[in-house]
This record gives sequence, structure tokens and C-alpha cells, in this order.
Amino acid sequence: MISINRKEKAETLVKFLKERYSARVEKHRKRSVFQTLISCVLSQRTKDQNTARASERLFSVADTPEKIAKLPERELRKLIRVSGPYRQKAKRIREISRIILKKYKGKIPDNREELMELPGVGFKTADITLSYGFGIPTIAVDTHVNRISKRIGFVSSEKNVEDVRKTLESLIPGRDRFVVNIGLVKFGQEICNPIRPKCPECSLTRICDYYKGQHNPF
Ligand code: SF4
Repeated sequence: MISINRKEKAETLVKFLKERYSARVEKHRKRSVFQTLISCVLSQRTKDQNTARASERLFSVADTPEKIAKLPERELRKLIRVSGPYRQKAKRIREISRIILKKYKGKIPDNREELMELPGVGFKTADITLSYGFGIPTIAVDTHVNRISKRIGFVSSEKNVEDVRKTLESLIPGRDRFVVNIGLVKFGQEICNPIRPKCPECSLTRICDYYKGQHNPF
């Protein structure tokens, strides 16, 4: 069996994701930084479709920190109810809005350290905000990016999300990181699903350790 090094795997992956998902990049750039941050908080511990529904409902009523800070908590809870633990999320979203207004005069901080001081904001939410919101070339490791990176074999399964981020950033140039973020999430929803990946439909079998492990004749 021909062995493929990680650099070659990364090049193949980037080429594939660009061909398949470049058209989606512009759509994602249209969201404000604040909307990106809040959607990511809403996405915690729920499915992608619930995040999309809750975000749409909330932003149709309040899409800025000013508007959210003014919303009664009960109304906010109602709007995001579909997103799972909505009481906790409503509290966090209101608190984030207040801090942004008070401490940052309405401007979202554009660095990891300050973002991660906001309630409920960890590595993933901070990196998604930097990448999707500010356009800073960061790999944002969500559940899909984490799973697919391990299946392909960029890192071993016991590595944490920080290891995944650092490894991918060492292999993928800054100019390609945004399409990789967008593409891996969509690819994880469509093909490389969490429970039953659709390997027979996948164009990445040549570079995928998981696939090779499943189809190893020995
Ligand atoms: S071959 Fe299967 S496991 Fe590997 S990336 Fe494709 S869908 Fe995922």
C-alpha cells in the first residue's frame, strides 16, 4: 500500500474542499461578527439544524448586542428554545451582549484571550468568531473538523482540539483555512457523518486512514 504523508493529504483535502465548497464561502461572510459569535454559543450541545433555527428566530428580532441586552429574558428564552439548554444559553447571550456594550463599547474583541473571557466562550467559539467573523486565518475545530481530521489521520484519536488546530495550521496555508473550515463542516454533515460515514460516496478514500482500516485485507 502506498503511504501518503500528511502534507500530501492536506493538499488533496484542500483541493477537494475548494472544488466542492468554494461557492459557500461568500454566504458565510455576510454574517456580522456578533451574529457569528452568538450562533456559535447557540450551537453548543445541539444539532446544526437546531442552531440554524434558533439563530434565525433570534436575529429576526434582535441581531445586535444593544437589541439583545434590551430583550426580556423570558422572550429571549422563547426565541432560542429549540437550541437545547436554552435557559443557560439565554443567560450567557445576555451577559455577552452586556459585556460587549460596557467593556468593549459595542466592538467584539478580535483576539482569543479576550473572547475566551466572555461567558461560555471556549477555544471553538473564539476560533469560529475569529475565522468566520473577522476573517482571521485560523482553523476553527468544531466537532466535524475534529472527527474528520482524526479519521483522515492528521492526528491520532486521543489528541485534543488544540492539537488538531495546531497540526492543521502547520499543514494548511492561511489563505486556504477559511474554505477548509466551511468545507469540513459541510462535508461532515453530508458525507463523513458522525455515526455512519458514507465512504462509498467519498472522494477522499485514498488519503483516509479510517477507510483503509475498514478495508484492510489483513
Ligand atoms: S473515506 Fe469515509 S471516513 Fe474517510 S473521509 Fe471519506 S467518508 Fe470520512
